[in-house]
Amino acid sequence: MALIKVLDKSFEPYLTEEMIQQRVKALAAQINEDYAGKRPYFVAILNGSFMFASDLFKHLTVDADICFIKLASYKGMQSSGKVLTSIGLDEDLFGKDVIIVEDIVDTGKTLHHFLPRLEHQQPQSLRIATLLHKPEATEFPLSLAYVGFEIPNKFVVGYGLDYDGLGRNLKEIYQVSE
Ligand code: 5GP
Repeated sequence: MALIKVLDKSFEPYLTEEMIQQRVKALAAQINEDYAGKRPYFVAILNGSFMFASDLFKHLTVDADICFIKLASYKGMQSSGKVLTSIGLDEDLFGKDVIIVEDIVDTGKTLHHFLPRLEHQQPQSLRIATLLHKPEATEFPLSLAYVGFEIPNKFVVGYGLDYDGLGRNLKEIYQVSE
């Protein structure tokens, strides 16, 4: 893999397609083991997680449901700032074993604000599966049950993740080049 350019930035190869696929397979195997005899309900967060969710789902052998949701933030009336709302989450999660699927956990802010909305529905269990995690960027600590790769605090694109709308189609993950 060579250096690539997305818009105005250069990116260097970081995770190969093979590394990603192997890791996703291993995560699915772990989930198959942990949820044996259960029926996990996956809540995948768009847009970034679409490739990860799709590949992960292909390797599941347990019965499982999946829904895709979009999180939108807007300035509320209150001075407290941003309010998060979700689009597409119309299922009742009461009593279900829910697994949230994220592309990347950076500061943890998005999920920190969104988790209470799911917890409010009283699922039986609630876990997070994220392909990437930037531990150095943590501002809102979360319990992450399934992590594909812990990565340094550098911007990445590819495999569903974008830079200003581009790069999602790449099969590999690239890291911004200094
Ligand atoms: P957090 O709320 O954890 O700080 O950030 C989560 C969201 O920020 C991710 O779902 C993703 O959309 C975006 N994000 C954080 N780091 C990166 C990155 O390195 N590359 C890309 N493409 N998006 C990122």
